[in-house]
Amino acid sequence: MDMTPLSSTILVAGGAGFIGSHLCEALLGQGHAVICVDSFQTGRRENLSALLGHPRFRLVEADVEDLPPFRDRLDQIYNLASPASPPAYQADPVRTMMTNVVGTNNLLALAEQTGARLLQASTSEVYGDPEVHPQPEDYAGHVNCNGPRACYDEGKRAAEALCFDYLRAGRAEVRVARIFNTYGPHMQCDDGRIVSNFICQALSGQPMTIYGNGEQTRSLCYVSDMVDGLIALMEVADTPDGPVNIGNPREFTILELADLIGREAATELSPVFRPLPKDDPRRRRPDIARARALLGWAPRVPLEEGLKKTVPWFAQELQRPLAACGAAAQPAKVPQ
Ligand code: NAD
Ligand code: UDP
Repeated sequence: MDMTPLSSTILVAGGAGFIGSHLCEALLGQGHAVICVDSFQTGRRENLSALLGHPRFRLVEADVEDLPPFRDRLDQIYNLASPASPPAYQADPVRTMMTNVVGTNNLLALAEQTGARLLQASTSEVYGDPEVHPQPEDYAGHVNCNGPRACYDEGKRAAEALCFDYLRAGRAEVRVARIFNTYGPHMQCDDGRIVSNFICQALSGQPMTIYGNGEQTRSLCYVSDMVDGLIALMEVADTPDGPVNIGNPREFTILELADLIGREAATELSPVFRPLPKDDPRRRRPDIARARALLGWAPRVPLEEGLKKTVPWFAQELQRPLAACGAAAQPAKVPQ
């Protein structure tokens, strides 16, 4: 039987980011009190504009590497604090690694101290450039430990190791979600990810930038499905004895995505081809059998429907002053 109280106090580290801000909103909607901890390295206050005056919402501006003491009775901790887009996590790779290792350890120590259950936002990047397809959780991955993506991939792998060490030692109750590519409102126009790049390029009359030949694949999950999956994993009564993939298994080539997004944004510009970043995974698709069996969860929003909510949101963003969203004027950030 799940002992989570009906109304919990929940700390969301990285709550001002893309996924974190939707998660904070959903948790408030369920009647919980939410403490958002964020350094604003890649997150934005605008993502929280609907939440900032809420009586059950508190914002603590802090770095998880240097966590302030909390006197609250905490029931749950979500750790989403980490840059997520390749250009963002490669901008300061040492900091990315330390955020994931030191930051996760600090939050695990807080979970141990308070008895809160912790959910770690891990990533499909732990599978690297996978040689098994689709990727089940028991696949150990194919990661280059000294390439430009290693700060993130290995940082997240080390964070998973810490989580399961705390769990095995009985020091904290931990759940690990391996998040696959997610999209939706609150992404940043200029964060360099595929959906934000393609939509903002299409809406501002620039050709979409295809890296490599565009035959590589990704499987895109709409953010509301992701948030539902994370909450289901946090709430499930029995602790899964390993990580759980959360993502949408429908797989597209990058060229197919450019075509779909172009149609949704009503552009007919031909794409341009750019060099493929080093270590860019060739195929990615989650095996979600474990999430279906343990959580009764599966994504519900098809890509076409998710894009219908995402494209108009970006169109509004592009109307904002350039200081807030520079994508229309600046070239997209490109990872190494
Ligand atoms: P995001 O960059 O929008 O959000 C991350 C948030 O963490 C930001 O608000 C940022 O300011 C904050 N942050 C970063 N370093 C911090 C630190 N040291 N201390 C405190 N706060 C810090 O990214 P997102 O897409 O919302 O991703 C959220 C989480 O999910 C990340 O941990 C990411 O690795 C994971 N994830 C995301 C995806 C995806 O497709 N979006 C895929 C796999 C994994
Ligand atoms: N990509 C692309 N053009 C862009 C941005 C990304 O072709 O403008 C490709 C990128 O090379 C990768 C895929 O889209 O193969 C997804 O990239 P993203 O940065 O969104 O996430 P990743 O899954 O690589 O972390």
